[in-house]
Amino acid sequence: MQATRYQVAALDPNAHLFEVRCTIDDPDPRGQRYRLPAWIPGSYLIREFARQFVHVRAESAGAAVAIAKEAKDVWRASPATAAITIIAQVYAYELSVRTAYLDRTRAYFNGASLFLLPEGREHAACTVELLRPHGDDFSEWRVATTLEPDGAAPHGFGRYKAVDYDELIDHPVEMSDFALAAFAAGAVRHEVAITGRHHADLERLARDLARICQWQIDLFGNAPQSRPPFDRYLFQITAVGEGYGGLEHRSSTSLLCRRDELPVRGRSDIGDGYLHLLGLASHEYFHSWNVKRIKPAVFMPYDLAREAYTRQLWAFEGITSYYDDLALVRSGVIDDTQYLVLLGRAVSQVLRTPGRHRQSIGDSSFDAWIKFYRQDENSPNAIVSYYAKGSLVALALDLTLRSAGRTSLDSVMRTLWQRHGRAGIGVPEDAIESIVGELAGEDMRTFFACYVDGTDDPPLADLLAAFGIDCHLRPAGGTADRGGTPSSSAVPACWFGARVGKDLTLQHVFTGSPAERAGLAARDVLVAIDGVRASGESVDALATSRAAGERLTVHAFRRDELFVVDVELARAPLDTCYLVPKPDATSAATALRQAWLHG
Ligand SMILES: [Zn+2]
Repeated sequence: MQATRYQVAALDPNAHLFEVRCTIDDPDPRGQRYRLPAWIPGSYLIREFARQFVHVRAESAGAAVAIAKEAKDVWRASPATAAITIIAQVYAYELSVRTAYLDRTRAYFNGASLFLLPEGREHAACTVELLRPHGDDFSEWRVATTLEPDGAAPHGFGRYKAVDYDELIDHPVEMSDFALAAFAAGAVRHEVAITGRHHADLERLARDLARICQWQIDLFGNAPQSRPPFDRYLFQITAVGEGYGGLEHRSSTSLLCRRDELPVRGRSDIGDGYLHLLGLASHEYFHSWNVKRIKPAVFMPYDLAREAYTRQLWAFEGITSYYDDLALVRSGVIDDTQYLVLLGRAVSQVLRTPGRHRQSIGDSSFDAWIKFYRQDENSPNAIVSYYAKGSLVALALDLTLRSAGRTSLDSVMRTLWQRHGRAGIGVPEDAIESIVGELAGEDMRTFFACYVDGTDDPPLADLLAAFGIDCHLRPAGGTADRGGTPSSSAVPACWFGARVGKDLTLQHVFTGSPAERAGLAARDVLVAIDGVRASGESVDALATSRAAGERLTVHAFRRDELFVVDVELARAPLDTCYLVPKPDATSAATALRQAWLHG
């Protein structure tokens, strides 16, 4: 079968239009059908990329061929006897790692947004020709992608190839005047391409990423000869003023970060922003094994026309979230104290989610399509993040296995890699539970029943105590908590129970809170508290200036109607976790901690 030949041109950067051509030599004689994915692997939401197809036509042997839509994401061309080309104009102006973007500063796309799949050619080889836009503005542009060149020079425009459609759409493409750095890990070249205005210390970023990547390669391989399961890797980073996101691919990742999260030249400390970026990069890199190769059986192959249901996202995202920060300390990029701050924040995030009592992470995984990816004002009360709680369940599992002295989550991951990832065999829904039981040498079904399929909180304080770590729970402050060591000063005394935006709009009203009991609801706008105009400061000050049991008279708008309620403040919940090494830890506990954090 001849290759499916694609061509991508930035038709009009000012109108954000790509022109994408797809040519095949042997169209279906009954009329060739074409389909576009409805979702992109790694992001579990029906996105209906066909929405952005603004014009589609077809031609064969120099003449137009009629084309008609058969479904929202399916087109059929009239029968043609010679090679046929379908030509689509696609609007691309979403600053996201999941879709496509085009303006005069950059062109970026995920193939799922642009490439129509001729039906019946799922397994055909593909080529894609990337055209440089015309004009002086674009003379400095280069190409960053892990698609294999098929004549294109390194970072050049021209032709690339993929073995099939599944691979074609798993290598996003960046075309711009990005900055480039490179490093080696596992004897494989890794590149970092940064798009957007920034003054990043590229050498430092490459140095830190090299340590994190090498540690992960060694986790799954046999150091010192370990090799990653790809022969090149790309961190494609877009730096913006405000934004966040990451999406994993088989040999690359696209990251969206704030430019102030990039490391600054002349500085060597690790601030919260840079830690956040390293954690994100570490997360996506870990996915190279856990979800890109060790994958749920239902993802083999992906059915991109409709939802693919699995109860295992907690393992693919939660275990990955556990290892993303753990890799920072295990690789020596941060120290134990910094790691415990990050872990304390992860625990706090889950404690502040009342929905964890309503939804299990197994259910959260299954319903990701309609709940986790489509959050609204009630989400904190109704759902739990399979990332956040999943990472704590992974931690609890690791600590449980390590305490028993038989095995660890590292061994579970290596076993998953050997039996499923490297072997190319999908992970059945119950496989992780049985591998854990097998390696632990005991029945672990109760653990999974309680924490994965049930809504219990894992007993982290007890587990961490055995590793010489004390878990202190305090009430959160009125404003964002920065983590660190607990202090006894300014402990918040009371709780209002709503998340309030800068414009004094209630974003979330928590289940069972004073605000909810008084009748306040999401989208209400605070007007006055005790007869005085409300402000961000006065709302923040409530937590420390008032006491539980005190009553407030609150005026607020619901839509355009003013109303007044009486709010009785409650005791502040203990939802901020500080983890600190026990001063009197036993040598056994200290040894467990050393083995856990330093291997
Ligand atoms: Zn992830």
